[in-house]
Amino acid sequence: MNDRKLVVPCPTCQTPTEWTDENKFRPFCSERCKLIDLGAWANEDYAIEAEEDFSLPEDY
Ligand SMILES: [Zn+2]
Repeated sequence: MNDRKLVVPCPTCQTPTEWTDENKFRPFCSERCKLIDLGAWANEDYAIEAEEDFSLPEDY
């Protein structure tokens, strides 16, 4: 017997979110938070930091 529900914090907004088959956006609480997280990877600090790492001249 295992009827405990797994609850995880939404990676975007930290809202406790039930990990169920009904929640197709898990571990996110909503489609909006899922898209925000994907957008962060594509557009924000990760990409900017990587670009700056490669911007130094080779003979610097
Ligand atoms: Zn969320």
